[in-house]
Amino acid sequence: METPRPLSERARQVQPSPTLALTARAQEMRRQGIDVLSFTAGEPDFDTPDFAKAGALEAIHAGYTKYTPTPGILPLREAICEKLWEENHLRYTPDQIIVSCGAKHSIFCVLMALLDPGDEVIIPTPCWVSYPEQVRLMDAVPVFVPADEQTDFLPDYDAMRRAITARTKAIILNTPCNPTGAVFPRQKLKEIASLVLSHNLWIVADEIYEKLTYDGHTHESIGALGKEVFAHTITINGMSKSYAMTGWRIGYMAGPTEVARAVNRLQDQMTSNACSIAQYASLSALQDKSDWHERVRRAYDRRRQIIVDGLNAIPGISCWRPRGAFYVYANVAGLLGTCANGKTLETSADVAEYLLERARVAVVPGEGFCAPGYIRLSYATADAIIEQGIARIAEAVHQLEGL
Ligand SMILES: *Cc1c(COP(=O)(O)O)cnc(C)c1O
Repeated sequence: METPRPLSERARQVQPSPTLALTARAQEMRRQGIDVLSFTAGEPDFDTPDFAKAGALEAIHAGYTKYTPTPGILPLREAICEKLWEENHLRYTPDQIIVSCGAKHSIFCVLMALLDPGDEVIIPTPCWVSYPEQVRLMDAVPVFVPADEQTDFLPDYDAMRRAITARTKAIILNTPCNPTGAVFPRQKLKEIASLVLSHNLWIVADEIYEKLTYDGHTHESIGALGKEVFAHTITINGMSKSYAMTGWRIGYMAGPTEVARAVNRLQDQMTSNACSIAQYASLSALQDKSDWHERVRRAYDRRRQIIVDGLNAIPGISCWRPRGAFYVYANVAGLLGTCANGKTLETSADVAEYLLERARVAVVPGEGFCAPGYIRLSYATADAIIEQGIARIAEAVHQLEGL
């Protein structure tokens, strides 16, 4: 029988998400009865709050279960505008908001609206796994600007400036940052804004972790720095991380009308509207004025201290104290070159593999975030699991030869 013609170059080149792959592997081990502690998940461990669920139940009973306008129901877009004004000092109108099936989908649509083949996009690293892959899916080119804990994981101004070429179209900014927990202070945002304005670029500002900052660090939206920057900024946000609503798949973009219209046209042909029921749940969530966020933030903050102090007490591991989000990005350079059962740990991927096999602890190696030499652990998990995980990692590390 003749084999059908090959799949697209695009389908063959796209990389699987290492985070999702490791989460799946840990789940598989657990299914086999192996007691694995997983620190891979990129989602809150809290339940979706009742005030959000109530909106969904009402929508189901009221029969709001049909298509909505592609950009989302008007009351939701109005509530998003109100939130963006009150919390972020960004003045958008509902026609500048497009609700999509998660912020990941919003970013995809925005990149599709902005990029032509060969365009370059500047991405500070360590970065979220999907940015480079999504840029590549547009046949565009990710250009990385690395940073490390010496500069609080903030990209250097001159390095960013040197990365700009005639083909540069946009900079992707993620603050608070997944995986590092960096929070970009106003001075750094101003530097980026000045580069964007002097080279007439776009900023795609992914602010999905905005509610989670610690130690007095606060989130600021780059689009709020001034009218000019605002006109160059596309703000991305969503319900997943701030309201523990990852499964509901609601994210949104807010940006200049021209961009919103383009995203609307693309989404018309791709998915139409995001789930109607989830939109009503999001509307209820945005209307809530309780202290839910603060209680959740405090719980993360407590876990952050446990995991950072625990990891820093282990020889060979050094962990920068994150200022936002719910991840630590721990430096494991001190473990490289050590041996386990005659096998040398040469990369952070080897370290993650060793921890999974020996400690039954799942972590994501830095390779996936374009910054090897580190491992990412999510602390969106119970205090007791964090304590147990740290103990297991410590025990496994003590068994390494040549430390
Ligand atoms: C989780 C995450 C998203 C996407 O979230 P959705 O569930 O698609 O809304 C976007 N950006 C970063 C940095 C994330 O960690």
